[in-house]
Amino acid sequence: MIVNVPTPQTLNDVALRLYFSAWSSLIYVRVHFDEAFPPGEDSRPEKGGWAEEWSEYIEGCQPELQAVCSVIQQSNELALKARICAVSPYLLLLNSTPKLSTVPGDIDFSELRTIDASDLPASVNSLCKETLSDEYIRSYNEIRSLRNKIAHLGHAGSKFEPETLLELLVDQYIELWSERAWLTDRVNFASRTGLAFFQDGKYTSAAAEVMCELPLIFTAIKKSAFKKLFGIEKTTRRYLCHACVTDASVRYHEVDPVRSRTAYLKDKFTLHCLMCGVDYSVVREACRSDGCTGNVISRSGYAECDVCHTCGSEQTEAS
Ligand SMILES: [Zn+2]
Ligand SMILES: [Zn+2]
Repeated sequence: MIVNVPTPQTLNDVALRLYFSAWSSLIYVRVHFDEAFPPGEDSRPEKGGWAEEWSEYIEGCQPELQAVCSVIQQSNELALKARICAVSPYLLLLNSTPKLSTVPGDIDFSELRTIDASDLPASVNSLCKETLSDEYIRSYNEIRSLRNKIAHLGHAGSKFEPETLLELLVDQYIELWSERAWLTDRVNFASRTGLAFFQDGKYTSAAAEVMCELPLIFTAIKKSAFKKLFGIEKTTRRYLCHACVTDASVRYHEVDPVRSRTAYLKDKFTLHCLMCGVDYSVVREACRSDGCTGNVISRSGYAECDVCHTCGSEQTEAS
C-alpha cells in the first residue's frame, strides 16, 4: 500500500509557515537597519537621510533576500499542491511512474515524484474548482524563474528590494488565502517558530513580536491591498484591543497606545479586532483621561474596569 500520503491541511500549513517566515525575515531586514539608522521625517529608508547607507545595506543583504525568494517560491508550490491534494492526493503523482512489484511492500509517497513546479498552476486550473488569476500565474512564474537562477547559478541576476518582496507576499496571500485573516495568522504563525521557544508570555510573546512590527506591517501594505486584506480602508480609524494589548504587555515590550491599534468599529457599538478576530461590545462615552478625545470604551476583563480603546487609560475617577 501507499504510505505517508499527504493531506491538504499539512501542505497548506507548511506553506503558511514558510510564508510568514519569509515575511518575518523581510521585516527584520528593516528593523535591524532602523535600530542603527533611526528613520527621520520621511520614514522610507530609500528616500530619507540614510538613502546611501540603505542602498549599501541592501546590497549586502542580497544573499538573505535570495534565500527569502526561494522560501516564497516553496510556499507558493506547497499552497498549490494543497489545493490539488484537496481534490485527491494521488493527482500529485500525475507525472510519476512508480515501480510496482509483485512482491508485497509499502510504497512511500514522499519518495515519489510529484507534479513539476512549472506545471502546478495549469494543474490547479484544470483540476480544482477555484482557479488562479492570470496575474498570480505571471508572478508565480517570475519568482520560480528567479529561484531557479539562484539554485543553479548562485544569483538571480537582478537586485532584490525588500519592499518589492513584501508587496509580492501581500498579493500572494490575497490570491491564495483570501478566506483567512492575515493578522490573526501572523500571530499564530509567530507562535510556531524557533523564536517561539522563548515566548513565555512573561518576557516575550507572539503578540508582542507582531505588535512591535505593526507600524512596518501597515506601511508595507499599500492602500488597495490593505482593503483586500483587511476589508477596511487603510485610513479607517483604529483602536486598541484590550485582549491583544494584554497579550503584548510583556517585560521586553512596552505597548505604545498609538502604534498598537488593531481594532476598528464595525458599527457604532461593535469593535472588531484584526489580530484576535473577536467582536467586542463598546459604549460610546468620552474618555476621562486628560487630553484624550476618545469615546470608545469597554470593560477590560484584565484590568477589571472600563478602559479607553484610544489611549488605553483605565476609566477610574477623573484622572
Ligand atoms: Zn484583539
Ligand atoms: Zn482615552
